[in-house]
Amino acid sequence: MQKVIIVRYCEIHLKGKNRGYFEKVFLENLEKALSGIRHEIHRPSGRYLVDGFDEARADEIAARLAKVFGTHSVSVAQQIPADMEEIYRSVVRIAPESGTFKVQTNRADKHFPLDSMQINAQIGGRLLAERPQLRVDVREPQKTLYIDIRENGTALVFSDYIKGAGGMPVGTSGKGMLLLSGGIDSPVAGYMIAKRGMVLEAVHFHSYPYTNMQAREKVENLAEILSRYTGGLHLHVVSVTRIQEEIHKHCPDEMMITLLRRFMMRIAERIGKRVGAQCIVTGESLGQVASQTIEGMTSSNAVLESFPVLRPLVGFDKTEIIERARQIGTYETSVQPYEDCCTVFLPKHPLIRPDLAKVRLAEEKLDVAALLEDALAQEETVVFK
Ligand code: ATP
Ligand code: MG
Repeated sequence: MQKVIIVRYCEIHLKGKNRGYFEKVFLENLEKALSGIRHEIHRPSGRYLVDGFDEARADEIAARLAKVFGTHSVSVAQQIPADMEEIYRSVVRIAPESGTFKVQTNRADKHFPLDSMQINAQIGGRLLAERPQLRVDVREPQKTLYIDIRENGTALVFSDYIKGAGGMPVGTSGKGMLLLSGGIDSPVAGYMIAKRGMVLEAVHFHSYPYTNMQAREKVENLAEILSRYTGGLHLHVVSVTRIQEEIHKHCPDEMMITLLRRFMMRIAERIGKRVGAQCIVTGESLGQVASQTIEGMTSSNAVLESFPVLRPLVGFDKTEIIERARQIGTYETSVQPYEDCCTVFLPKHPLIRPDLAKVRLAEEKLDVAALLEDALAQEETVVFK
């Protein structure tokens, strides 16, 4: 008996001609998720099999593989020779002592002397005879014992499906620049876009010394958590202190956030072009706060030369976002109370529906090009592998 892990994937089969490419990227991502752990990945039809690992680490490996986008489900299985006696012994190891069960066989090897129904009946019958407290329930069993007769003379026996992260393999949908604040929303936005297969780099803006080093650490912690889903993450850290000071000095107070947003977009696009990204991703949700109106979004979109902005949370309620943040493990970090740069020089009454013409007029008081150069010159990059 040898422990193996079965990885089933989703959606990839939908991709027709691109299937080979999708599978290649998915395999690379599975390999990355297991880096540092001894293992081998095989590719029999329709799924992946992992073996050659230290069996004590099977659950840890399964958990890592389940997190890879594109994974539908994962099972830890026993691999044995395809022989009824061996199969029965293997089933007994994972069968419950009491309650309801059923045996479900899948027979890829059509030369196996018994068909699926016969295997179910014989294995199930023996188990019932040996464990009188068990009952068969084919409709809603408490436990299903799966037997998979493979074409190479081996069989797989398992009982549990671990739900995978779903989605598409990261690396199959282009590259985006995530605006990552220390808040609840933007890590969730990054997760959702990565789940659709997009590679991400992140950019964070701070106003040191108005914001402190703990705020920065918090964002690095968020980036680290996110990087486990995105297969690594480059975090670009940019100071907007001078930009905020200049806005404060020369422009109407209520335009602080509107104008700052426009700088963030420009900087993200500039860095994005340099690193081969094609769009910007934000955690905005329509109507959530004063700056997240359609007019606010129009005002920030208007500065972009060619990048579109993806806002995966646009139709989400805060409670839905919080729920997702908890699931992905970013919530606890996001709610730590450190100031974001947006709260520095925060106006009492921020503009709710900025008028683009007026915003542009106010911005004429600033040397936009010089401020951009200045901010970009001090950019730092932190790499999470
Ligand atoms: P979040 O929880 O993501 O901070 P929020 O509800 O606090 O969102 P805002 O502060 O208005 O909303 O920010 C809207 C979006 O702008 C964020 O989701 C993020 O994508 C981007 N953003 C805001 N502040 C920063 C920052 N300091 N660095 C990078 N991006 C930022
Ligand atoms: Mg915020």
